[in-house]
Amino acid sequence: VSPENGPEVSDATRVLRRVFGYDSFREGQREIVEHVVAGGDALVLMPTGGGKSLCYQIPALVRKGVGVVVSPLIALMQDQVDALTALGVRAGFLNSTQDFEERRQVESDFLAGELDLLYLAPERLRLDATLRLLDSGVVSLFAIDEAHCVAQWGHDFRPDYLALSALHERWPDVPRIALTATATPATHAEIASRLSLQDARHFVASFDRPNIQYRIVPKSEPRRQLLELIRTEHPGDAGIVYCLSRSSVEKIAEFLAGNGIPALPYHAGLDARTRAENQARFLREDGLVMVATIAFGMGIDKPDVRFVAHLDLPKSVEGYYQETGRAGRDGLPSTAWLAYGLQDVVQQRKMIDTSEGDDAHRRRLAAHLDAMLALCETVECRRARLLAYFGQQGAPCGNCDTCLSPAESWDATVPAQKVLSTVFRLMRERRQKFGAGQIIDILLGRKTAKVIQFDHDALTVFGVGTELGEAEWRGVVRQLLAQGLLAVEGDYGTLVLTDASAEVLGRRRQVLMRREPDRPARAARAAKS
Ligand code: ADP
Ligand code: ZN
Repeated sequence: VSPENGPEVSDATRVLRRVFGYDSFREGQREIVEHVVAGGDALVLMPTGGGKSLCYQIPALVRKGVGVVVSPLIALMQDQVDALTALGVRAGFLNSTQDFEERRQVESDFLAGELDLLYLAPERLRLDATLRLLDSGVVSLFAIDEAHCVAQWGHDFRPDYLALSALHERWPDVPRIALTATATPATHAEIASRLSLQDARHFVASFDRPNIQYRIVPKSEPRRQLLELIRTEHPGDAGIVYCLSRSSVEKIAEFLAGNGIPALPYHAGLDARTRAENQARFLREDGLVMVATIAFGMGIDKPDVRFVAHLDLPKSVEGYYQETGRAGRDGLPSTAWLAYGLQDVVQQRKMIDTSEGDDAHRRRLAAHLDAMLALCETVECRRARLLAYFGQQGAPCGNCDTCLSPAESWDATVPAQKVLSTVFRLMRERRQKFGAGQIIDILLGRKTAKVIQFDHDALTVFGVGTELGEAEWRGVVRQLLAQGLLAVEGDYGTLVLTDASAEVLGRRRQVLMRREPDRPARAARAAKS
């Protein structure tokens, strides 16, 4: 069968078996491969670990010419090329890490038709020299990996991706396949329009990862909670712990190592060699825990990551889904665990307020955060919420914390009114703003130095909140923030009222909150003493 006539599917199956050594296609792969082999454009939404690579690698091997893969993951190109080379596939890459001689060699291989796959960093495609090079060879297809990087408001936006819309104009007959694991209906639409893929066939796989157990717990003592998770459920397992800042990455990695758990740090502040070394060790050795910022993980293919723990709140549901998706690619039971608290909400709101960009940008960030908070505070199935976010249906799953121990909601209207009226009185009677700590001290009737200094024990609300403890009050404030009934302002995380606060203060609105489960760590220690 000549390639020009459209090869038979059996060619694809043969390549799957002979080159990659797999018996059969996974769900969705066959249709995608067939479509691209036949020269069609495709937009593929498939969760991490679903097997996206084969969807362009096999068509590249079946079709005549070189498959050009655009990928932002420069650090991984060498690994990908090595892996393909080991299978006997002729692959090369062009990116900024190479010297002139290495590039020239790859270019001449390309021109001589001695490559099956050529990986390119997106910024290469802005160079005239690259475009001319591609013109002088035969391109079998363009694969645009991590296609959500073209979405301007997404969390991984790369300006260089915008230039990829030109591929279609310059090479109208070369099929394009864009792939991503991150796509809300809005991102999906944005990818299609920015890459001119409206007429492409869209393949949307289920985003459910049934083997991942989702759990979101209130943060009390994060280090202890993390240690307990690892010791009781994942001793000796490989895992990833995500932290927001470089310094907490360092500290948590040290803390784990000090407690006998082999852990390595990974963040953009480490020099390139240490980063590469730590990553290589994590991939090769068993049972290492990688403590990392979100700089770690895109494109990492380690099948047996048994848990992903977040010690800080992710900025968006997309981020959360993508990071937790690195657990359990082998299909075996895995844990996605997130500890989150009042301080997370305060900190993230503050970061949004002080972020660069215009108001529309800040509103976008706030909407992302709100969706993440709604997932944290829901009393419904986490998985069903997560799938709904990606526009997909799901019944209660039986494998998330709310399914396993159903969360109740409780009527928190009165406590909410107490918090809000304290903030209101401080603002109106004293023209003062304070953070959560001071508000809670006032409610609990604590005569701290700061309470006395500001004469807050004279307020009528002083001591009206003794029915709850400090942790419960922090939970109430956190959920008020999450529900937009309270807002954070300025550098010190001071609390201010929102328009919606008035409805609660005016008794026109009921406030329901998620009841916090008993904290296992505290209960266990209480039992011991
Ligand atoms: P993604 O890019 O979607 O995250 P990959 O393409 O890296 O996923 O594939 C994830 C894992 O699944 C890889 O180890 C890959 O070799 C394996 N895989 C993909 N397709 C198949 C298949 N048809 N049969 C068996 N294993 C597969
Ligand atoms: Zn569930």
